[in-house]
Formats: sequence, structure tokens, C-alpha cells
Amino acid sequence: MNDTKECIMCFSKIDSRAKKCPQCLSVQSKSSNLESNPLVIGFLTLLIAGVFGSVFYDNFYPRIMEDAAIQELNIYVSELSTSKEGETLYIACLGTIDNKSNFKFKDVKFDVSFVSNTGNLIDTFPVQDKNLIIMPNNITNFRVRGIAQKKKELYNNCKIQVVDAWAI
Ligand SMILES: [Zn+2]
Repeated sequence: MNDTKECIMCFSKIDSRAKKCPQCLSVQSKSSNLESNPLVIGFLTLLIAGVFGSVFYDNFYPRIMEDAAIQELNIYVSELSTSKEGETLYIACLGTIDNKSNFKFKDVKFDVSFVSNTGNLIDTFPVQDKNLIIMPNNITNFRVRGIAQKKKELYNNCKIQVVDAWAI
């Protein structure tokens, strides 16, 4: 009496030497049946995880770190100034940006808010500075300027926030 084995596909008892199941005609070589080979499954799982992992690491992880670094840019306003050109009143805000991150930023987008001496928000505008480069682990001077919508006397202080920047 010959030894028997289970067919890898239909699990019927077949001759242990059989290369093909007489019931379902499946080839009894484990490596030809991906779904039943734990080594192949393990390898494919690692491969897929690796591909997704590297896509995440290359594309999304730096973006997350970059956004976190933008949040940590410390902005100090030192001076507020106005200038009149024709009928247009310009208001400018000067100060420094302390970048404690290892990212170098360019194409910096600011949100500039002006408050009165009683702390009320009186004017706000977005500014994009194409020339400004914020060096890593360094303090950088900045100056943002926009058209004032209110009277010069109302502008008492300004609050600056970096809303977006390109890390290089
Ligand atoms: Zn079978």
C-alpha cells in the first residue's frame, strides 16, 4: 500500500507520489501555487509593505515634517511702518524669523494681521515672498508689505503667521 497525501487544492487523499491530483487536476508542486506557500506570501507581504512604506517615506513623511517645521517658525515683529505713494497707503511689517528646524524654506506665504491699540483686528492680507529664503537653524530678517485698508492711526501692531512654504 502506497502512502497517501492530501491534495493541496481539494484536500482529497491521493497517492503521495502524485504530481497531479486525479480529482481536481491541480499540480502538487507547492511553489506553483502562490496562495498556499507561506514563504511566497511572506515575501509578497514584505514587498508590498516595502513599496508602500517607501512611497510614504519619500512623499508624505517629508511633507508632514515640513508642515511641523513651519509651525515651529518663531516670528518676532520689531517694527511697523507706513508709506504713502500717491493716494495709496502702504503698511509694512518688519521683524525676524527664528527657524529652529533643519529645513530651508522658500516661497513663503504669510498671513498678516494688524491690530489696533485696543487689540481689535483691523486689517489682514496674505503676502507671498518669492525672494525670501529662510535658512535652517538661523534667524532671518523679513519685511512684508501690503495696501492698508484703514486709516494709518489705527495700525498699532501686527501679527504674522507663515501659512505655507516650500522646503528645499
Ligand atoms: Zn485535488
